[in-house]
Amino acid sequence: MENKNLNYKIGTKVIMKKQHPCGTNEWEIIRTGADIKIKCINCGRTVLIPRIEFNKKLKKIISEEGKI
Ligand SMILES: [Zn+2]
Repeated sequence: MENKNLNYKIGTKVIMKKQHPCGTNEWEIIRTGADIKIKCINCGRTVLIPRIEFNKKLKKIISEEGKI
């Protein structure tokens, strides 16, 4: 990941480095901005994290809506 100012889009599915207690590490971006809000794909729980933290914890972008 070279570009740290990547513009994430709502609906993008991502894999985070740390697993959620429910057992998945797949999340969907539901809000962007200075803070990123992500929703656990498995249990539906949402978490709001600062973009900088998000960039650090992001492992992989799985899919962008309608792209890739
Ligand atoms: Zn979960």
